Amino acid sequence: MKITDVKAIIVKQPEISMIGDGSQDTVVIKVMTDEGITGIGEVDSSPYVVKSIVESPASHMVCMGLRDIIVGEDPFDVEKIWYKMYNLANYYGRRSAAIHAMSGIDMAIWDILGKKLGVPVHKLLGGAFRDKIPAYCSVLMPDNEDEIKRIADTYLPQGYTGIKFGWGALGQSDKRDLELVKMCRKAMGDDPQLMIDVGMVWRDVKSAIRLCKEFEQENVYWVEEPFTPDDLEAYKRLTHSVDMRISAGEQVGTMFEFNELIAGCGIDIIQPDISRCGGITIAKKVIDMAYLHKIPVIPHAFKTGILMSASLQVIAAAPNALWLEYCCQETVLSKNLVKKHFAIDDKGFVNIPQKPGLGVEIDEEVLKRYEVK
Ligand code: MG
Repeated sequence: MKITDVKAIIVKQPEISMIGDGSQDTVVIKVMTDEGITGIGEVDSSPYVVKSIVESPASHMVCMGLRDIIVGEDPFDVEKIWYKMYNLANYYGRRSAAIHAMSGIDMAIWDILGKKLGVPVHKLLGGAFRDKIPAYCSVLMPDNEDEIKRIADTYLPQGYTGIKFGWGALGQSDKRDLELVKMCRKAMGDDPQLMIDVGMVWRDVKSAIRLCKEFEQENVYWVEEPFTPDDLEAYKRLTHSVDMRISAGEQVGTMFEFNELIAGCGIDIIQPDISRCGGITIAKKVIDMAYLHKIPVIPHAFKTGILMSASLQVIAAAPNALWLEYCCQETVLSKNLVKKHFAIDDKGFVNIPQKPGLGVEIDEEVLKRYEVK
């Protein structure tokens, strides 16, 4: 089998708001083969940058667009293809958007392999440790108590065993962050797990230490991404100073960066985003790295059903998976881009897809309706 073409399709809701909601647009990747099998993937990044990275004509031998790098390759050489993309995109790549674009292509190649062999991707990753996973509800942090209460009252009865409030109103001041966390706990009651995603806006380690200790009193399960991914020293000081679980990982890609966070910073939970970290090929290695350090893997996912299916395939094959992040922001794409978006049962579980490949099908009408030409 040979790869014959790669398409990067930008899909976008009509109006974009400047809020921390990545499900307002996306890039759908399609990798075509000479056997008529098409693999699908998704990239959580700047869509226009990703499209350029995929479609750019070659400048020279280590500065090629990703499509030119992989056309003609056999999808079964998925690991070799990953390193080929990484090496031949060296001049503009190595981190960030180039790794994001590679992630979508890698995801699509794994989809091809599963479809060709008639098995779900988790079979190719070594088999399933589970056939369902508990989901936590992931939403933006509102700036008022009524909206926090509305979220708790809407999602907890649906079965979610926890809610993560992130970005949004957080980061205005330490005092306000603590007030918001107390509102969340009050609205949710004592039992459901509460997670806080700081969205990289804390700047001061001493304040972060103090706030994490306050959050412990509210029984916060983890504090996510307090700092930017370059603030490695801040992460080290924080994880060594508090009992609170500190999570991170959604912004980073390649084994090098995950090693810095897991082994170098003592992170308690690692959150690779399959559409950014380097794809399923790298996520599989991150699972093993995390396993060595006895920490759980909870993939970051705040996009559409394509990324959710890839996360579920990886979660199925991970001995140390704990939870599925379920993006509860309602955009025209978040639940409609794939047919039969994943539902949670009344105990808060989502089933692992069992159909060949990633196990989801794009709704081509929705794709066409929101495609940006
Ligand atoms: Mg996050």
